[in-house]
Amino acid sequence: MLDSPLTSVKGIGPKRAELFSQLGVHSVGDLLFRLPRDYLDYTKAIPIAELVNGQTAAIQVRITGAMRFFRNKGMTILSAPAQDETGKITLKWFNQPYRSYQLQIGEIVYACGRVMKKNSVSLINPSLSQALPGIVPVYPTVKGVNQRAWRDSIYACLESAWDQIPEPLPRTLLERYNLVPLALALRHAHFPFSREALELARHRLDFENTLLYFIIVELQKAERLRQNGFSFDTSGVLERFISQLSFSLTQAQLRVVDEIAIDMRKSAPMNRLLQGDVGSGKTAVAMYALCVAAANGKQGALLAPTEILAEQHAQNLGEIFGEAVVLLKGSMKKVQRDAALKKIADGSALFIVGTHALFSEDVRFYDLGCIVTDEQHRFGVRQRAAMLEKGMRPDMLVMSATPIPRTLALILYGDLDISVIDELPPGRKAIKTSIIPSNKRDDMYRYIAEQAKEGVQSYIVCPAIEENEDIECPSVDALYTELKKKMPETKIAKLHGRMKETEKERVMRAFRAGEINALVTTTVIEVGVHVPNACIMAIEGAERFGLSQLHQLRGRVGRSTKQAYCFLLYGVESRQENERMLTMTQTNDGFEIAQKDLLLRGPGDFIGTRQHGDDSASLIAGTMDTKLLEQASLAARDILNQGGEESARLIELASERYGTILGDIAMN
Ligand code: ADP
Ligand code: MG
Repeated sequence: MLDSPLTSVKGIGPKRAELFSQLGVHSVGDLLFRLPRDYLDYTKAIPIAELVNGQTAAIQVRITGAMRFFRNKGMTILSAPAQDETGKITLKWFNQPYRSYQLQIGEIVYACGRVMKKNSVSLINPSLSQALPGIVPVYPTVKGVNQRAWRDSIYACLESAWDQIPEPLPRTLLERYNLVPLALALRHAHFPFSREALELARHRLDFENTLLYFIIVELQKAERLRQNGFSFDTSGVLERFISQLSFSLTQAQLRVVDEIAIDMRKSAPMNRLLQGDVGSGKTAVAMYALCVAAANGKQGALLAPTEILAEQHAQNLGEIFGEAVVLLKGSMKKVQRDAALKKIADGSALFIVGTHALFSEDVRFYDLGCIVTDEQHRFGVRQRAAMLEKGMRPDMLVMSATPIPRTLALILYGDLDISVIDELPPGRKAIKTSIIPSNKRDDMYRYIAEQAKEGVQSYIVCPAIEENEDIECPSVDALYTELKKKMPETKIAKLHGRMKETEKERVMRAFRAGEINALVTTTVIEVGVHVPNACIMAIEGAERFGLSQLHQLRGRVGRSTKQAYCFLLYGVESRQENERMLTMTQTNDGFEIAQKDLLLRGPGDFIGTRQHGDDSASLIAGTMDTKLLEQASLAARDILNQGGEESARLIELASERYGTILGDIAMN
């Protein structure tokens, strides 16, 4: 029944079915599982005096005057004055002229819509009713299918199929974890009669999704542990490695190095996530893993999300390992590329640094033993699959500077062991962060120019490359021109993603060498870039960046024992700092910032699939209830241990739902 085509349902015609099928919704079941993306709470009427700009609200009002109709900029606007005991409001409809027959003076109605508060208060495109609509689901807006059509169609499906929705979860599980049956959960997720009913419904659906997801994660883990990878011999590697470093490892680094050594000695392939705040020294740990591989005559690959970063890693490794290091990136001349490919294929390259280019089909490794992925959150989890497709079972270490709560890591990375560097190298001073109001902007640039004379370098980050009417703060191009005039004695250069690779490299090299004082740039330098002598990070239009992004950007400075500064400027338009900027001034702790980011943005925005339109994955991402995650993870293990028919059925269901998308979940 759930498999029946939509047209089999009374009330859904071929035309609407066709529109739905463009969304990938073909059957009754498909539609029932398209859950609302949001809900509007119209369970109580809010007094006009308490309305907040931008809010969606229900109000109960008396119509106090005749409707007015006028045109403006090609739009028809219809308005009606109304009031309650606490104030006055104007109901306004855009391009809905048919409304004019619907209202009488003196009539009392409920109106639900979006509040606009400027000089006066209005409610935009309100729907009117005689009773409070309660909690109203919101579906994705699609051409030809309005909210009403969604609701009607889903209602029709529920009516025709409700008693035939099979229950996928075993009864014992429903009871143990206090879950409502699927049929009921679907009904209440689409047509909740109360907040409580809605929460129970969403909880049940989240639980099921999370459970099935964890079943896949556990299966993958079991599969990995069964595999025979290579057992590395680590004896003597650490001693030799340490002797090549110019500093001694911190306690935290040593602990993590040890965890990695234990993994690498085992025959099952390592799959470890290394979390450490920006500047905590992850690169050294990565190099250790590569050294273990090299000591065993195997190749190690270091994967970076940007060419700038790959270049930097290759240069650093090259200083120690010379000819055994090779760099592979997208923008290379054919001769260079061929030479690199040859060294990778014949094994003369032991340390291979690259970008995504390492996954190209023509890359053949001689004997790849270990892969380290830097700034993992930029990649997603697909590489492992890509490598497995190349028929290899290398040890994997992924590194991320965005320390996320363990529960979220479970979702994001699934089958991974986690190591944490929770200590910065000695002598680091906390970066001083301040918000610069626009009347202090010139002072700040003067300060940057003075510091340049002392040899202190600066990054100046802009949200956009070129002038753009939408953005009220300087672009890289505009700021570059402005600063050239303002600070004639400072050596300024620009760097952004649309420049040629060779040009980018040249600028970056010059900046590293101290030949450039101030680099006007975009977020291309966001991750990984390491120039210890750069101590000032100024961010224009800081209100446009996410919290984690601001923290990453700030992490480009404070990489030596010198005091570093971060200046946050905001666009003319916003005229005020926001909560993210304030948070930045309050803490330097990446973990705290990640938690706050999660709180501000919500997990659904924090992680998602890189591919669009995959609702099942965003559903998982919506789950941030720690208790639910833990219970689901426990239940998944129980189910697999228990075996039998029930377990097999759930595994099948899990593979159907998550077997293919697992690799695509990534952090945004
Ligand atoms: P991240 O974790 O952000 O990738 P890096 O690996 O780039 O950090 O390290 C930042 C800087 O700290 C580098 O210059 C590195 O050489 C230095 N560093 C790393 N570990 C130590 C240490 N134990 N003692 C002193 N400096 C260190
Ligand atoms: Mg790094």
